[in-house]
Amino acid sequence: MFHIADPKEVIDGKITDVYFERSLQILKAKRINPLVRAEFITKSLPEDWPWAIFAGLDEAMYLMKHLPIKVRAMREGAIFYPFEPVMEIEGRYQDFCVYETAILGLICQASGVATKSARLKKLAGDRLVVSFGARRMHPVLAPMIERNAYIGGCDGVAVVKSGEIIGEDPMGTMPHALILCFGSTVEALKAYDEVIDEKVKRVALIDTFLDEKFECLNVAEALGGRLHAVRFDTPASRRGNFYRILKEARWELDLRGYKHVKFFVSGGIKEEDIPVLNPVVDGYGIGTSISNARVVDYAMDIMDIEGKPFAKRGKWSGRKRVLRCAVCHKGMIVPLDERDYGCECGGATYDVLIPVLDKGNYLIDMPSHKSIREYVLTQLKAIGDRL
Ligand SMILES: [Zn+2]
Repeated sequence: MFHIADPKEVIDGKITDVYFERSLQILKAKRINPLVRAEFITKSLPEDWPWAIFAGLDEAMYLMKHLPIKVRAMREGAIFYPFEPVMEIEGRYQDFCVYETAILGLICQASGVATKSARLKKLAGDRLVVSFGARRMHPVLAPMIERNAYIGGCDGVAVVKSGEIIGEDPMGTMPHALILCFGSTVEALKAYDEVIDEKVKRVALIDTFLDEKFECLNVAEALGGRLHAVRFDTPASRRGNFYRILKEARWELDLRGYKHVKFFVSGGIKEEDIPVLNPVVDGYGIGTSISNARVVDYAMDIMDIEGKPFAKRGKWSGRKRVLRCAVCHKGMIVPLDERDYGCECGGATYDVLIPVLDKGNYLIDMPSHKSIREYVLTQLKAIGDRL
């Protein structure tokens, strides 16, 4: 059997750290059940990221709609900065205390994957970025990971089920196994061209047997104008100067009239590789960097009890507004009852924490995965060069 929880067990509060269950037992025995406001917040981001993407809200709301609580949150896909609460819940503590583990789990990992994807897409610019990392994680999580990779900015996902969920055709080329089964890159490519639906672009994997330069020419000669791209998945042991290999292959293809053939690279691509490879690359397949992205370490902190500001050491008490400048994207955190004021740059500000859920009723229309992705890409332009 798979060592996973059933979704119903998550909704029933079974995925909880036992100390919450014990707390509930004590609070019930002593008849203590205050009205509590708690916020989800991180004081710092992994790898010194200056900003992150808030993701996982739709799944968190799917869980929280079963609880008698009110929720304010940033829109899914919002870029936020450390110390800005991304979500606030309000309710009787006994009604939601056992859900802290699950709610955090839904937003911490989703936000980490979406942020990493956004950073990679920002670096790659107009070049294609495709999520290839499903195989690094438990398969039941693949659609969740790839959905968040997609909303973070990836142009496509590889797994069939993920494509169904986000409403896009999955993207892929060919595995080394197919070429090994044929014993020849060109024969495997010809068979691919014969069998696979015309709407799928022909991308040849060219690092299986021969030198990349010569194999590029072989596949270009075999398919001519039908060849859309070649994929370089060159093993690390052969890579040497990857940029120079690509540059040389580009030269040889161009010289023979194959300027239309695009270059797609994969295999352990990291953020720092992208600026180096951009001049010769048209697309990236990125696996582990995305699927194993660092999580965003949100904590859930009580900051108001029975309407009175009250928080632990190290946390700011009281309910808050998070304001965002429409011009420079700067963030401001002010008390909830503070009236509007503009940014120091002169720009107008707007609230990013908005009511989203009231005791099971959605207060916002849930956006499509595609429109969340577009929202992320718009903000990535607005924040300038900060990475
Ligand atoms: Zn401003």
